[in-house]
Amino acid sequence: MDALKAQAFAVRRANFPDEIKFFAPGLKHYAIPEFEQKNPLAFLPISLTGSACALDCDHCNKKILEPMIPLDPKEGLFSMCEKLAKKGTESVLISGGSKKTGEVPFMKHIDDIRRVKEELGMRIIMHTGLVLKESEAIALKSAGVDGVAIDIIGSNDTIKEVYHLDATVEDYDRSLALLSAHGLSLRPHIILGLHYGKFVGEYAALDMIAKYPVHSLVIVILVPMHETNMWGVDPPDTAEVSEFFFRARLKMPDTYLMIGCARPLGEYKKIVDRAAVEAGINGIAYPAEGIIELSESMGLHPTFFENSCSCGS
Ligand code: SF4
Repeated sequence: MDALKAQAFAVRRANFPDEIKFFAPGLKHYAIPEFEQKNPLAFLPISLTGSACALDCDHCNKKILEPMIPLDPKEGLFSMCEKLAKKGTESVLISGGSKKTGEVPFMKHIDDIRRVKEELGMRIIMHTGLVLKESEAIALKSAGVDGVAIDIIGSNDTIKEVYHLDATVEDYDRSLALLSAHGLSLRPHIILGLHYGKFVGEYAALDMIAKYPVHSLVIVILVPMHETNMWGVDPPDTAEVSEFFFRARLKMPDTYLMIGCARPLGEYKKIVDRAAVEAGINGIAYPAEGIIELSESMGLHPTFFENSCSCGS
């Protein structure tokens, strides 16, 4: 493992400047000596479907939608963003619950999405779910969105048993192919331990993503949540998580790798955040205590952003 770690960090050094990015979007209060949030409304997540979702994924049960601002269909997305912009919001994550097909129903809002971009100049990251129609990739591109985040699952068993979705790994591959072919800036996500805390399709997802020119890869870790079928499940083993970081660095040597905000807290977080820095990861959301000192001790200059790591800066 030490040899793998050293190899990974050497690859990082060879491909990136000696800087590391730290993200603290205003979704939760975050204050450390080196970094205090100044504009908690700078980046906000919007759910196009409110708290509604046709899938009841075992790890989520719609809970991911709770901290998002629910769209009021009567008001409309543009008018909603106009109000947010007046309050200081610069970037939005546009997401929502899925249809039974695993797709987030964003097409009926595509004109508003274009106006939010063109008239308000907001940065827009879409979290789409599966994208299986070419027309949708074309529409996203012409709307001018800054990036597309999409959770990639590398196992048919996980798609069926966790997401209860009648889809296959090939559908995720096709989504990446369509979005990439139409020049969308991709920020795919991998959830480590998605299959009840166990590694099942993570490396297959990594291999799939590595085929495409992506803006960045965002790695998150299962957080077993209350009122979900995974409450009480152990998150994945930190050694397995660390190894994944090292191998992801080697597999995608010149792609920005980010650790997203979803990961277990406490000692677990300290261990995996440390492994992330040592693996040569480029950015971490809400870094654990001591991680900035560690980064500096490894010759990495920290920069701070009140944005989501999916924004990248
Ligand atoms: S589709 Fe998304 S919002 Fe719906 S339950 Fe699954 S993870 Fe949660």
